[in-house]
Amino acid sequence: MQEVNKEKALVVYSGGQDSTTCLFWALKQFKRVYALTFAYGQKHVKEVEVARKIALKAGVEWEMMDVSFISKLATNSLTDATIEMDKEKPADSFPNTFVPGRNMFFLGIAAVYARERGINHIVTGVGQTDFSGYPDCRDAFIKSLNVTINLAMDEQFVIHTPLMWIDKCETWALADSLGVLDLVRNETLTCYNGVEGDGCGHCPACVLRREGLENYLKQKENHCDYE
Ligand code: ZN
Repeated sequence: MQEVNKEKALVVYSGGQDSTTCLFWALKQFKRVYALTFAYGQKHVKEVEVARKIALKAGVEWEMMDVSFISKLATNSLTDATIEMDKEKPADSFPNTFVPGRNMFFLGIAAVYARERGINHIVTGVGQTDFSGYPDCRDAFIKSLNVTINLAMDEQFVIHTPLMWIDKCETWALADSLGVLDLVRNETLTCYNGVEGDGCGHCPACVLRREGLENYLKQKENHCDYE
């Protein structure tokens, strides 16, 4: 077994609000941080460039991994330009923005990548509070996969999910406490229509992100009034 180095962490990094908050969270927790960005055939390849730029600014080691085979396995509206995105979660199934297997592939690949570099901490921005119907964002899946990848390689990986139980409002609060609220607000890309910062304003990702920000800023203002 390779020597375990607790001082290093690998962040699965998309360049969006959640994983950027996790990137800066990891920088507070670990001495050396690596960021791995997956190109999975997403319509907005700009995401990769956004991730590269922020990783560079954060001073972490960054690499892009091409996993575009994922988009060939199954149809979804994030990789297929001919499909219109679901605005809401259908009552009886997943929204068509669901990319089947995505987090399983990402984390499995991240673990192999981490092992090569003697890293045993892996950080991902998934969470189940603003549950949008993605089964691979749930805590049970992450815990199960953690056991599986440990068994697969006889290693002791720890998958960290700092956002698992917090909502978008609290995610903004976390970014603020890490001193990166403005960076996350202005430079990340969460929008399904590929618009950086505050985004297009009307896609489901923008609506969720904006409502969280408005709630957080309101709370912050109210809190200041008490002082
Ligand atoms: Zn948008």
